[in-house]
Amino acid sequence: MAKQETKQQTKPAAPDESQAMTVTTSGGSLVAYGEWSDEAMQKEAKEVGAGGEWLKIAVGRTVVRFLPPKQGWPSPFVIQHQHFIELPGSDRPVTFACPKMHEGKLCIVCAKADKLETSGNGRDAKMAQRLRPNKRIMANVVADPGNPEQPVQIWAFGKQVYDQLKSIRQDDENGGNFLDPMNGFNLSINRTGTGKNDTKYVVTAARAQSKLMNMDWIATQKDLRLYVRIPTEEQQRRLLDGEDPRDVWGDGDGFNPRDKKNKDVIDIDDDGRRTAEDDLFDDEVDLD
Ligand SMILES: [Zn+2]
Repeated sequence: MAKQETKQQTKPAAPDESQAMTVTTSGGSLVAYGEWSDEAMQKEAKEVGAGGEWLKIAVGRTVVRFLPPKQGWPSPFVIQHQHFIELPGSDRPVTFACPKMHEGKLCIVCAKADKLETSGNGRDAKMAQRLRPNKRIMANVVADPGNPEQPVQIWAFGKQVYDQLKSIRQDDENGGNFLDPMNGFNLSINRTGTGKNDTKYVVTAARAQSKLMNMDWIATQKDLRLYVRIPTEEQQRRLLDGEDPRDVWGDGDGFNPRDKKNKDVIDIDDDGRRTAEDDLFDDEVDLD
């Protein structure tokens, strides 16, 4: 009987069964099991390593390639002015793009900050600064760009990284146009620290110019402007009341990336926190 079972395993089977194997238990019955094939392992490793639509930079060195903007896009970067508010008694910060900065509309948080700032009280002024929006810059990048199979991901970073990108772009000797698909180059991001105050990114240019390993990457970039979600006054109130952001934003406002990826959009890296340094050296980011 055991022989017969074994024979069944070796005959051509449906794809799912082709890798199944059996062992005989001490009681003599057969137990079927699969295997962790090289193929499966590689597929998983790719999924685990890829980390979804948003790139998370781990501590250590990560090589990334920035992609040139699609035709018609004004820039490879989209800058978001983002409020990041910790509500008392909640471990989930409220985040949203500032309606005042983006659209010149009423922003409840900015209005509150304006009021605090003029109170003449030092503590209020400090509080006001914490309420101000923080710049988040988004870009389409490929991590591990030596592998043409890698997906394009969105990396959201702060001014610290942006300023280094700008320096590299403007440096004719040791940098240059890293976005060029033919003659650009990879960048190495070295992250140290994981906390709000000790996380640091050092960006350096790869020595050699290189062509993109996969030209299709350019077309598969996301239009990052769709990821800037600006709440109405009512939505601001509801968010600030601690209502679940998924309920506040709803499911049918016609912008898929915003709807589907709501959870990701509110997922802020530690470096997204506004620091005292940000306040001191804050200015508008400018591509030239
Ligand atoms: Zn605002």
